[in-house]
Amino acid sequence: MFKRHLITIGIVSIFSSCYASDLPNIKILATGGTIAGTAPSETQMTGYKAADLAIETLLKAVPALNDIANVSGEQFIKLSSQNMTDEIMLSLAKRCNELLLDPSVKGIVITHGTDTLEETAYFLNLTVKSKKPVVIVGSMRPATALSADGPLNLFNAVKIAASDKAIGKGVLVAMNDEINGARDVTKTNTSTVSTFKAPELGLLGYMAAGKPEFLKSTEKKHTYNSEFDIQKLDKLPRVDIVYSYVNADGVAVDAFSKAGAKGIILAGTGNGSMHDNAFPSLAKASESGIVVVRSARTGNGMVTISHQEWADAGLLEGNTLNPQKARILLQLALTKTKDLKEIQRIFNEY
Ligand code: ASP
Repeated sequence: MFKRHLITIGIVSIFSSCYASDLPNIKILATGGTIAGTAPSETQMTGYKAADLAIETLLKAVPALNDIANVSGEQFIKLSSQNMTDEIMLSLAKRCNELLLDPSVKGIVITHGTDTLEETAYFLNLTVKSKKPVVIVGSMRPATALSADGPLNLFNAVKIAASDKAIGKGVLVAMNDEINGARDVTKTNTSTVSTFKAPELGLLGYMAAGKPEFLKSTEKKHTYNSEFDIQKLDKLPRVDIVYSYVNADGVAVDAFSKAGAKGIILAGTGNGSMHDNAFPSLAKASESGIVVVRSARTGNGMVTISHQEWADAGLLEGNTLNPQKARILLQLALTKTKDLKEIQRIFNEY
């Protein structure tokens, strides 16, 4: 079944790869993930091989792309996104910045595994210095699956990247006919195609009748008005995440401190709260110069000042960012400053 499909799309691609000067130029950076995944049977939806197919094969599977844009693919890396690293994110951001400087490039689409897609999206949202559209796309079903969601997601992503409506909106995520903003979107379900949501804060738009329709945009700073410059960096400060739970203590905090963490994100209970048995270790970490930011494991809501003793110990508030996104922002904040007031300002603004 799968082989037959590939043969068909191979023939189509010969006709469709001609350059049309009136179409926008969209660069596709492929990083792997399920969208490039394969399984031996079309009914196999788990345990498949992620990041298997090359970008050329993904593009050939959607010949209609050639009617909407001049797409050119680049295999940036091939990985399952749970293995994403700071270094890969840094070089991806640099590559985007380089490509977007080219006046002939209208926008970028990045194919990505869904597990850490939200983290890469937020990182790029803070480090890509352009108003041009950057759209991240993945899929929940491998390319070989019955009703694979990758081809349409990819088609939609290119449509969005080619649209003037997407200019200046920050990095966008195109999945399941929805357009979400990089800051607020998160993976909410282990396996359904409707997994990407911005709970409570909401999506930015839809793909409606084949066109991107935007309903709103974020108030938070991003891309062209972001203050972070990563062009000269080849690594990021270590920032770890500690989880709050019944019976939690400071063992994980102490271990991360010992491992050289420059920052710690608390995935706190409720409004970024922590067990009394964990607080002394967090206070000690803060005292030693490690920046500690309280976020919440609740999935929604703003973390605010709550207990004065936590604020007095220098623990900051992570706004509405989930712990994994608060980690990204703290890493970038730490490339600029160690001043707690400044870092709190950054958490309020981004
Ligand atoms: N583990 C895969 C990844 O993140 C899952 C996916 O792409 O949906 O690469």
